[in-house]
Amino acid sequence: MAPDKRWKGGFAVVKRIHVNPEWSLPELGSNPSTNREGTSPSSFAIRPEVGGRRAFSSPDTPGMPEPSGIEATDWENEKGRKPVTQLESARAGIITAEMKRVAERESHLTAEQIRAEIAAGRMIIPANRVHLGYKLDPMCIGRASTTKINANMGASPVSSGTEEELEKLHWAERWGADTIMDLSTGGQIDVCRETFIRNSRTPIGTVPIYSMIIGRKLEDLTYDVILENLEHQAKQGVDYFTLHAGVLREHLPLVKDRLIGIVSRGGSLLAKWMLIHGKQNPMYDLFEDICDIMREYDVSFSLGDGLRPGGLADASDAAQLAELETLGELTQRAWAKGVQVMIEGPGHVPFDQIEFNMKLERRLCHGAPFYVLGPLVTDIFPGYDHITSCIGATAAAYHGASMLCYVTPKEHLGLPKKDDVKQGCVAYKIAAHAADIALGIPGSRDQDDELTKARAALNWKKHFELSFDPDTAKAYHDEDLDVDTDFCAMCGHDWCSVRISKEIVEFASGKADGFQREGGQAVRTSALSTEQQEILERRGVLSPEEIHKLAHKGEKTACHSDLIENEGEAKEVQDGLLA
Ligand code: SF4
Repeated sequence: MAPDKRWKGGFAVVKRIHVNPEWSLPELGSNPSTNREGTSPSSFAIRPEVGGRRAFSSPDTPGMPEPSGIEATDWENEKGRKPVTQLESARAGIITAEMKRVAERESHLTAEQIRAEIAAGRMIIPANRVHLGYKLDPMCIGRASTTKINANMGASPVSSGTEEELEKLHWAERWGADTIMDLSTGGQIDVCRETFIRNSRTPIGTVPIYSMIIGRKLEDLTYDVILENLEHQAKQGVDYFTLHAGVLREHLPLVKDRLIGIVSRGGSLLAKWMLIHGKQNPMYDLFEDICDIMREYDVSFSLGDGLRPGGLADASDAAQLAELETLGELTQRAWAKGVQVMIEGPGHVPFDQIEFNMKLERRLCHGAPFYVLGPLVTDIFPGYDHITSCIGATAAAYHGASMLCYVTPKEHLGLPKKDDVKQGCVAYKIAAHAADIALGIPGSRDQDDELTKARAALNWKKHFELSFDPDTAKAYHDEDLDVDTDFCAMCGHDWCSVRISKEIVEFASGKADGFQREGGQAVRTSALSTEQQEILERRGVLSPEEIHKLAHKGEKTACHSDLIENEGEAKEVQDGLLA
């Protein structure tokens, strides 16, 4: 049959098509665009009821655990004591200065909504009272707010010191890290921590057991050492402690059939301590005393997943889930003491198990914010684990995680350098932002829509300005064609679909006010900045000398472990070389 159209003024006027409503995007969640522009009306997430247990939540796949019926308001503040922590203030109905500041930063939430979420235990503000006296800008972690990212750093016994780590901290803040974990295991560990706290705008987290065993054998770790160290770090201003208090003696037999055993440093140290002493995990036994110290300074818990899987084959196994159940018990004990809690999560998880892991935590840990490490969704891409994990992190955030711990390209391979920190941060900002859009967090898509308009108008200047990393975007554009014109080197003038679309008068796209290119003529772009030139240089092919160096097939260094039979001797040689 001939098409139903007629020619008018040189253009074909085609019969209007009505899309079957069955095939259009259903309005389930809220619209992530403030201006409600574009053709996509909403997200598929559940319509947000901030104050409810499913605020900004993905729809549950059949079979997923229901949210818990328990929340932090089920406990009252201790009678006769002035509220000290954000949780205690929230439960007393007080809106603190930090809650007000967080409401400014989370423009879709009111200070009262933030108070209510904190009172319920679904949100925390990790802000040690000492750190608030320096440069800390309060932020929150919780599913009702935007998704946050954490960057790990810290001196190791093998490389790097305080200055280099401080530079990385500022670099991570520059690339959007919302919190920083100081995981120093060597160097001047105490100085490094103090320096971080005094110089960071972002909350600082630590794994205190690392510094507890510096200068002593693990077996000599006593209850007094544990409490003294925690008190010292709380007094310094650490905002959250990762404590692996949920690894119990009873869980250890569950690990024996794993492919890779215990991969958490804190988890493995405590497991060894329990086996040496034949006793329960000291962090578990001392939990109420620890809470008292943390309450005094308002240090938040990051209840560590000491039995997290270290490979896909060990994911969601009995050991991991038994520990998660214990973390749910500890969450309630911390709430009873007025201490804020978030929960650490895995690790390495096949893509199809991610939703289950997020929703099981929501159930077992009663909605306490989930802070996940990736997870990596495949194990065979060392060198690219910022990508394997950011795929998992995006799914995790969509299904319920509140903070994503970054993974850099150096994961499993070495200590991240400055550029690895940037790569990790950028990958995780992508994951967090993608999830926020999918969850329908109001306004989360605004910058994307602005950039789309600039792209449609072929306005390169605005395109770069609206990019997360303008220097890299401009350097890549100018590498092939340093001319600001109505196409780029990807397709060239004749094949540029955006340019062709602009020429089709009927299309409104690319004509948004304020997005048209100035002038209209092709003009040479401004020269590349030093930073942009460096970005391009880093893309350069390696010189023959560099390739030769990388392919060096000479003698292995004397400390290489497979050259030495005796483990102790190997360590001695390594210590000698590193001294
Ligand atoms: S040339 Fe191709 S890639 Fe470049 S702006 Fe046009 S359509 Fe986009």
